[in-house]
Amino acid sequence: VETPAAGGDSEALAALHRVFGYDSFRGEQGAVIEHVVAGGDAVVLMPTGAGKSLCYQIPALVRPGTGVVISPLIALMQDQVDALRALGVRAGFMNSTQDFDERRMVEAEFLAGELDLLYLAPERLRLEPMRELLSRGKISVFAIDEAHCVSQWGHDFRPDYLALSLLGERWPDVPRLALTATATHATHREITERLGMPDARHFVASFDRPNIQYRIVPKAEPKKQLLSFLREEHAGDAGIVYCLSRNSVERTAEFLSANGVEAVPYHAGLDAGTRAAHQARFLREDGLVVVATIAFGMGIDKPDVRFVAHLDLPKSVEGYYQETGRAGRDGLPSTAWMAYGLNDVIQQRKMIQSGEGDEMFRRRAAAHLDAMLALCETVRCRRSQLLAYFGQDADAEACGNCDTCLSPPETWDGTVVAQKVLSTVWRLERERRQKFGAGQIIDILLGRRTAKVIQFDHDQLSVFGIGEELAEGEWRGVVRQLLAQGLLAVEGEYGALVLTEESGTVLWHGREVPLRKEPKRPTASRASGGG
Ligand code: ADP
Ligand code: ZN
Repeated sequence: VETPAAGGDSEALAALHRVFGYDSFRGEQGAVIEHVVAGGDAVVLMPTGAGKSLCYQIPALVRPGTGVVISPLIALMQDQVDALRALGVRAGFMNSTQDFDERRMVEAEFLAGELDLLYLAPERLRLEPMRELLSRGKISVFAIDEAHCVSQWGHDFRPDYLALSLLGERWPDVPRLALTATATHATHREITERLGMPDARHFVASFDRPNIQYRIVPKAEPKKQLLSFLREEHAGDAGIVYCLSRNSVERTAEFLSANGVEAVPYHAGLDAGTRAAHQARFLREDGLVVVATIAFGMGIDKPDVRFVAHLDLPKSVEGYYQETGRAGRDGLPSTAWMAYGLNDVIQQRKMIQSGEGDEMFRRRAAAHLDAMLALCETVRCRRSQLLAYFGQDADAEACGNCDTCLSPPETWDGTVVAQKVLSTVWRLERERRQKFGAGQIIDILLGRRTAKVIQFDHDQLSVFGIGEELAEGEWRGVVRQLLAQGLLAVEGEYGALVLTEESGTVLWHGREVPLRKEPKRPTASRASGGG
């Protein structure tokens, strides 16, 4: 580390060889590092896996003093520090998981100038004693990791990040580096403003992952659909299947194993030993499938993940992009596959409404879900829509490597069927002061005299049986699309369907409702076994 300064560039390259054993910088890394080593501030937007860590680790090694890394991912700090120590880097961390003695030791190392890198949780900086401690040592660079957490409209807002503007005020001579993998234009602007980095240079890498094929299919029998996808396209490949609940993680892993696909579960309810063992197998073996909640994947670096499958809808486009981005880091063809259906929409809308959090939180969550739904329902190229969401290549051409490019969905005029659904909801909600879920609405449309239909006299409604032109599955698709388009809303813990302000434009003003045509029989029927 103490080599004589011979121009930041070559020193940085030397550190890259010596410490990390790599030959050359990737993408923008070299430019970012050169800028920061020279003392400049930088805002770095790079997708997950692009190599953000080196952008601050190398300046921390090359510049005199300790590089202070602010990261909200407390659970990863120990691993990050261990990995660096194994490379001979003098690294330490301070967070709430440590006891007094451990913290004291790290403090002493920092003050003695014996640390190259110090990882801190953002809430540490709220404490004046902590700031004083930092003032007594020498700092080479501040790295603000996951910088999007400063954005109140982001999907991951952390109030402690707002205080990070003090870094520039208190240490005006220390270069700052804000890094994130998830930033729309608005978030990007917010990062610069709120962190007080008006003069920072911006480095924006492309978010395109051309080797990943994006596909979103209507959900019918998700486990069977998944199985045939794996058998037909990814037999023997390593991959990750994401589910929302621990229970469905367990059931899906069992189902795959019973059908000849080697799969293990991973979620926070498993004990640490099992989790570590499953993760180790995944990294080591060639063709293991991990079925996981989103807890799996952070900090996992396996280049040959051939597919990422979602059996439940992610809560945001940011989350979807991050999770699917774990596929194909080696640049070889990979698939991001998702099954998505009416229940996903209802469940997530319900969760937002009945969940904790204030009005602001709910509005934010709803906006993120809407963007995710728009991606699911789009008839455009999915990749262009994804990149446009991140403020990139808004008018890029169709990619030719996503489902909507490969087999362009047709649209049809769904105005009349939309009116049928909405007027059924209107009869119940406005005339009878009743609220029901999608199942009852569809039973009424289909003219089914179920016990519940009889019980509420719903066979007496004028709309009873007016929807026999579509099958139940098709009606579910229509309702899902109406929810996604904001023409219907979900209310209450049972997921009752209610009208929105927009519903009236369809009901009374004849607004046209284009709907996406869906395959009549999803590929699920081709899967066999496992019943
Ligand atoms: P990010 O933080 O952007 O998600 P990481 O910093 O974790 O990405 O890097 C992802 C992987 O790429 C790591 O295994 C890292 O060692 C590797 N990597 C980063 N830069 C280089 C490089 N210049 N040459 C080779 N491998 C690299
Ligand atoms: Zn495309």
